[in-house]
Amino acid sequence: MRRPLIAGNWKMHTTYEQAMELARAIQARCGMVEYAEVVLIPPFPWIVPLSRQLNGSSISLGAQTCSVFDEGAYTGEVSAKMVAQFCRYVIVGHSERRRLFGETDAVVAAKLRAVLRNGLQPILCVGETLEERESGATRDIVERQIAAACNDLESGQVARLVIAYEPVWAIGTGRPATSADAALVASWIRAWFRERFGSGISEGLRILYGGSVTAANAADFLVVGDIEGALVGGASLDAREFCSIVEAAVECAQRIAEGG
Ligand code: PEP
Repeated sequence: MRRPLIAGNWKMHTTYEQAMELARAIQARCGMVEYAEVVLIPPFPWIVPLSRQLNGSSISLGAQTCSVFDEGAYTGEVSAKMVAQFCRYVIVGHSERRRLFGETDAVVAAKLRAVLRNGLQPILCVGETLEERESGATRDIVERQIAAACNDLESGQVARLVIAYEPVWAIGTGRPATSADAALVASWIRAWFRERFGSGISEGLRILYGGSVTAANAADFLVVGDIEGALVGGASLDAREFCSIVEAAVECAQRIAEGG
């Protein structure tokens, strides 16, 4: 059984005080869950203080992006090597990075390698725009994004990968995909990995859904066979909402473990 992963992407939100309080409230309610993995992905400056605050809990940390380089004269960049001591995950290829900061498939692939090279786990985001969906190109787009980043990985590297299917039109809009649509795309993603790396690797791969996930709809996605968690944006900034999503994941995983 794959353990569901609930990751909260705080984006460029929170002051220092708000970040510490949000993490404290999440830790108080979800700091020791077993059936699900909880990851907080705050802005860079809060990573170190949060790693101290969360020490001893089962919650881990992620970074929202990283440099393609490990160190050097690259003003403003933060490397995977720098956050490796404090984080377990790094998001790569988020649609906001692709769209607003011009990150191409090649840049995403280089960042993914930087994450792996430094012993971290990438959460690779893929997903189509509304225009691409309406023109029937969803599968081509998602497969192109995955192939560009993953085609020449080794099996051991793929085993550390998490894929987040995030349709661009569902992010921050309050209009999530249907669980059936998300399940279909997740099955295409798993099929791509099965074909390229074999069924052992593809079966172990964790695929998340992201895009307007809330406490009210999380369970719809988490009971779907090919989806093992959620990447949560807006709802991760509210401790009660986020913890309810974690609890929904725990409940779904428990039910699946008990064969229900
Ligand atoms: C995201 O930014 O990855 C995301 C899924 O955002 P939201 O949950 O707000 O749609």
